[in-house]
Amino acid sequence: MDVIKKAKGVEEYIIKCRRDLHQIPELGLNLPKTSAYVASEIRSMSIEFRENVAGSGVVGLIKGSKDGKTIALRADMDALPIKEETGLSFASQNDNMHACGHDAHTAILLGVAKVLSENKDEIYGNVKLIFQPAEESPGGAKPMLEAGAFENPKVDAVLGLHVGNLINTVTKNGSIGVCYSNMMACLDSFKVKLIGKGCHGAYPQSGVDPVVVVSHYLTVIQTIISRELAGTDSAVITVGKINGGQAYNIIPNSVELEGTVRAVDQNIREYIARRLEEIAKDLSKTMRGTCEFSYNFGYPPLVNDEEFTKYFVESAKKIVPREDIIELKKPSMGGEDFSYYLKQVPGTFIFMDTPMAIDGHVYPNHNPKFAIDESQLFKGAALLIQGALDYLE
Ligand code: MN
Repeated sequence: MDVIKKAKGVEEYIIKCRRDLHQIPELGLNLPKTSAYVASEIRSMSIEFRENVAGSGVVGLIKGSKDGKTIALRADMDALPIKEETGLSFASQNDNMHACGHDAHTAILLGVAKVLSENKDEIYGNVKLIFQPAEESPGGAKPMLEAGAFENPKVDAVLGLHVGNLINTVTKNGSIGVCYSNMMACLDSFKVKLIGKGCHGAYPQSGVDPVVVVSHYLTVIQTIISRELAGTDSAVITVGKINGGQAYNIIPNSVELEGTVRAVDQNIREYIARRLEEIAKDLSKTMRGTCEFSYNFGYPPLVNDEEFTKYFVESAKKIVPREDIIELKKPSMGGEDFSYYLKQVPGTFIFMDTPMAIDGHVYPNHNPKFAIDESQLFKGAALLIQGALDYLE
């Protein structure tokens, strides 16, 4: 199959879908308009599918005319609670925005579905189309898997991509970023309540001051990164929220804080979780207080399969020039729930650069002026089609 030619053939269709979806952005697990759009499109392609998988998920199945393995191709469909400021003619019609490009992912996968469903005779095995909700929050991949998205038939490998401006070292549109192992961080959160004993601000000896305890806690937990991990290990601890106190001259009973942990290695992630708790308990005890601690293990680190990625890169060379395939040597500290699929089966996640300027400036993902160079979208479809066909063959 001339994959580039076939993908070019659905380029207008992809752009139309993307613009339609861009105007109706929805959040989280419940995406009624978006999933109805997807279902209606793949129904018109006579593709068998399941609806309402883990909320608004849609799972399509294209059976090839020859026996073989099954590969899953994944697109996330949800948007962000951001008011769009691009001024584009097809801008969002509500207060949400596709500021992370998931509209493009969904449209690309619809284009892929169109090409593959019209060329079943060239497919060995099956292609599963995974349209998932809630990548941004609270997570759609895990409930999709729990609802059997990778069963009947059992999925053997998975492939997905992300558009935007994610490859910092590259500015050329259409370049792709590939990574052979740990590519993105976990997305965890933690909450600590440091409890002292409230009293008059003039007589601290009659209470236990949790504001002083929290000030030490913030400093000590940064030494987990700087003194307990190797300088070559990547991890971040950020406390983004602190709450406590009523007045300048009253020592409060307690102070609460919330933070996030990003680590690209599972062992380091578990180490940090344990140390955050130990320090909270031991430090508050030393300073005559107590504490409540909770840690939420969110999306795991995203780890690509080395062998699969090598095969994928060979496929990608048929679609984009060699110099446009960039090996990502450093992981991103962002999170992605595609990591759950990669914990089940081998596969790879790639970045595709699609920067487009608004008012003369290229804005990053999650910005109200984030925009996409639509002329690159057919390439995304071609990469998924070629990758799937080659893997199955
Ligand atoms: Mn995203």
